[in-house]
Amino acid sequence: MNKTSIGNPVGILGGTFDPIHYGHLRLAEEMLELANLRKILFIPAGTPPHRDAPQVSAQHRNAMVRLAITDQPAFELDEREIARTSPCYTVDTLRELRAEQGAAQPLCLLMGGDAFLQLDTWHEWEQLFELAHIVVGYRPGFTLDERIHSAAPALRRQYRQRLCAADALSGQPAGGIAELAIPKLEISATLIRSRVAENRSIRYLLPNQVADYIHQHHLYEHAKY
Ligand code: ATP
Repeated sequence: MNKTSIGNPVGILGGTFDPIHYGHLRLAEEMLELANLRKILFIPAGTPPHRDAPQVSAQHRNAMVRLAITDQPAFELDEREIARTSPCYTVDTLRELRAEQGAAQPLCLLMGGDAFLQLDTWHEWEQLFELAHIVVGYRPGFTLDERIHSAAPALRRQYRQRLCAADALSGQPAGGIAELAIPKLEISATLIRSRVAENRSIRYLLPNQVADYIHQHHLYEHAKY
């Protein structure tokens, strides 16, 4: 049983959530437990600088996240990025959160191993460590240590210097990198969009309420995946 207090880290999970699915939700649930997080903020991206425009509007992606997390009181929807029309960077979001939560509150930016290995392509990426810890989920049996050699040298250096146990994250507000072995469900938003466009079932890939929402609003029927 986790003991949580005000000092427990706040987790931050950004994503396009186009749509949210059980891969995201299990990642969040496992991290909540293993990193002893107080809560997790789900922050749907507005105009992601790193990838193609989402297939459906910010309002729809927001609504689907809201439906998906209603049963878990430790999960919260944070709408700050979705409201923005200009490109919006994680570092700016973390600066805002740091100002709101105070200098002492541990913050943990959550991501999958694939995202972490490209962290050096993110805007002002080294500043991220001044603002938050980074918690990386990796597939059991495939440690990040084995894959970090494929990352840029500067990222490898940061990884080696900052690696710490998940238990240590609540002792500092920012600056650590922790790895957690988390089974990765073979689910992606791309898979769901392609299933809908091909008129195939998406049941059991995401919460029923989200599947119903997609069908009611005719989302992804003409998706380009
Ligand atoms: P797409 O298929 O459109 O690229 P996606 O399903 O990968 O989307 P994102 O919104 O890009 O979803 O992902 C947000 C975060 O969730 C990222 O950090 C990503 O690594 C993680 N993530 C996505 N799918 C999974 C999954 N099946 N298991 C664990 N983590 C996941």
